[in-house]
Amino acid sequence: MDAARKYKMGEKASWLVKLHWTQYVSLDPFGAYLLACSHGWTTQAKDAAQSLLGGTIQEIEVSYSPSMEDMSTQHYHRLLTYHARCSTAIFSAGSATTTWLDVKARKMMLCRHSVYYDMDNVAGWVAPAITRAVVILLPRPSPRTIKEAIASAVLVTLIQETKCGSCSFPSAYATFGDSIARKVQQLIDAVRGSLYQFGTVLTVYS
Ligand SMILES: [Zn+2]
Repeated sequence: MDAARKYKMGEKASWLVKLHWTQYVSLDPFGAYLLACSHGWTTQAKDAAQSLLGGTIQEIEVSYSPSMEDMSTQHYHRLLTYHARCSTAIFSAGSATTTWLDVKARKMMLCRHSVYYDMDNVAGWVAPAITRAVVILLPRPSPRTIKEAIASAVLVTLIQETKCGSCSFPSAYATFGDSIARKVQQLIDAVRGSLYQFGTVLTVYS
């Protein structure tokens, strides 16, 4: 059975798949992406592509198989391009505290003993934690990445090594994670909005 036929389905089946789309995407984002592309479901394809940001680009590459050839390599290359563009957006955002944390979040992270003196007197752990968070996010540019146990363990360890007795932590850590995740979402939304449009030719990426 070729891939095109495998992924084709009737109207009723399509309706059912769309109804359970969120679950399907979380179970098999790459399969969901291919299915959405083959049916021209733009929103669903974008959602699946976004879910794949939670993994590395190498993970997407190993998911690819020759049996998908007739799924249009263009969709596959768009996926890789989208993933790379999202990583670039994270990288380009830099690691300034004011970029990743809004005023409200920064107010949660004050420390009177801050060695990183700035107008907000943000706690000393904030700057190194942001730098580390960006490094963690580059290969997997998804809001999910920063919420995962592994990322949290790395960041919490770093913060415990760099904070002082007056730093507000761990209550501030939840706010920190939420702010970073929100910023990641903004950055990848911008990529999705401006670059990831079906029906446009591939040359728009060059
Ligand atoms: Zn402190």
